[in-house]
Amino acid sequence: MGGQPMFIMSEDSQRTQGRDAQSSNIMAGKAVAEAVRTTLGPRGMDKMLVDSSGEVVITNDGATILNEMDIEHPAAQMIVEVAETQEEEVGDGTTTAGVIAGNLLGEAEDLIDQDVHATTIVEGYHEAASIAQDAIDEQVGDAAVDDEILKQVAESSMTGKGTGGLTAESLAETVVEAVRHVESDEGVARDNVTVHTQIGASSNATELVPGIVIDEEPAHEGMPSEVEDASIAVLDVELGVRTGDVDAEYAIDSIDQLNAAIDAEESEVQGYAETVAESGADVVITTDDVDDRVSTFLANEGILVFENVGSSDTKDIISATGATRVGALDDLEEADFGHADRISAENYGDDDLAFVEGGAAAETVTVFVRGGTEHVVDELERAIGDALDVVSTALESGEVVPGAGATEIAIADKIRQEAAGIEGRKQLAVTAFADALDVVPRTLAANTGQDPIDALVDLRAAHESEGRAGLITDGEDVTIGDPLESGVVDPADVKREAVESATEAATMIVRIDDVIAAE
Ligand code: ADP
Ligand code: MG
Repeated sequence: MGGQPMFIMSEDSQRTQGRDAQSSNIMAGKAVAEAVRTTLGPRGMDKMLVDSSGEVVITNDGATILNEMDIEHPAAQMIVEVAETQEEEVGDGTTTAGVIAGNLLGEAEDLIDQDVHATTIVEGYHEAASIAQDAIDEQVGDAAVDDEILKQVAESSMTGKGTGGLTAESLAETVVEAVRHVESDEGVARDNVTVHTQIGASSNATELVPGIVIDEEPAHEGMPSEVEDASIAVLDVELGVRTGDVDAEYAIDSIDQLNAAIDAEESEVQGYAETVAESGADVVITTDDVDDRVSTFLANEGILVFENVGSSDTKDIISATGATRVGALDDLEEADFGHADRISAENYGDDDLAFVEGGAAAETVTVFVRGGTEHVVDELERAIGDALDVVSTALESGEVVPGAGATEIAIADKIRQEAAGIEGRKQLAVTAFADALDVVPRTLAANTGQDPIDALVDLRAAHESEGRAGLITDGEDVTIGDPLESGVVDPADVKREAVESATEAATMIVRIDDVIAAE
């Protein structure tokens, strides 16, 4: 074997090793967290994201920002995943989780500079994370989670999302009403709450519809726009002369034959209309076309028909009303009908909507979101989505913790106390974890124009003397006080998940010392 080098990887692949790999990963992760930092809290700013096709999104939502940013660096991508996991698991706290993860990386970098080994950092972080979970348990409020607290949870989650003041209060009420509606002994059926956005009125007009809202319009102007106590037939049938039907093609040689053909077609169409009318249905939903002659006839009979209804709308109608889909008119019978208290068709500028309320089969409710412009309703939809998630989470677990940085201060305090009993360099890592959590109250302070160091010192002092202390924003005022008294509360699970997913991502990144990238 001569001095021939042996290649085990393609010559084009790039490899970064050791300290370089670590620091480039850490830098990338920190950069991502930095990108969402200024959006945290009630005074967080929004970001405007413009994609390559010029599409604009304006948002304050951490997960949305990170999703819209075209992040390629693999370590940075892991922080994006933290936000995504947070969104999926608990629906809120994405910025918090990202910011904590970024600062865990920042602290790790300092530790590596002090020659603390990566595995020691990882062990210390895991130990600190488990102390943090205990601290969160201790912060859970004693009060039962009632509607008042649920409204506070909703409002705290919508804070800073362009829903300020009165709007936030009335939205919170709508959100709690929606979640209460889908609550049963088995828990909260979050999926039964949907959100429908409609541009054109102020966000104050946002309301709860006890049913579903779909983008459909009546097949004929003369049809009733509202049917009470409706019997609904759902058809997969074309109500007209079938376009692909052989019977519909005639070889015409004479006027007589033409007339006969027209008559045959007329009576076929008339037959469809009569069958439908005689079935006793008040409302007909069909996935296919309805001939104009049929709709005119049915309009005269006072029947409301929606044609060419898309498959997802059809499914929603079926699950709300309990209708059975019918594939052939001859098979249509009353047993197949669905029922609803009210079906109505309404026009909103360029859009036509159908409301199916009080469906007999499901407890679905729709938050009907109004707002002046597309960007407003889009951001409202995200805010309401978050609020629905946190209220469901809080109601299911029955556990809320003080917000406004108070829980993070308490966690950091407990970790520092317990760190004293931990030997060796690991203690440095445990303490560093506490420092990383301080970033939440520090950032809340910075985003409200306060000096972050002063605020942190004051908060710690207040925590020491009062036991609970957050940096509460109320309108123009920023004060230190008990968040539970001011109604700034977050679900405990949002904090638990944020600590867990941030720790996982940060420790995973710190452990990497070799990056091999194929070209
Ligand atoms: P995230 O994506 O992490 O949910 P937010 O921008 O929604 O980020 O900010 C959430 C933080 O804001 C939480 O720590 C919450 O307790 C805090 N917060 C909510 N309302 C207030 C308030 N009125 N005063 C101070 N902090 C608040
Ligand atoms: Mg939030």
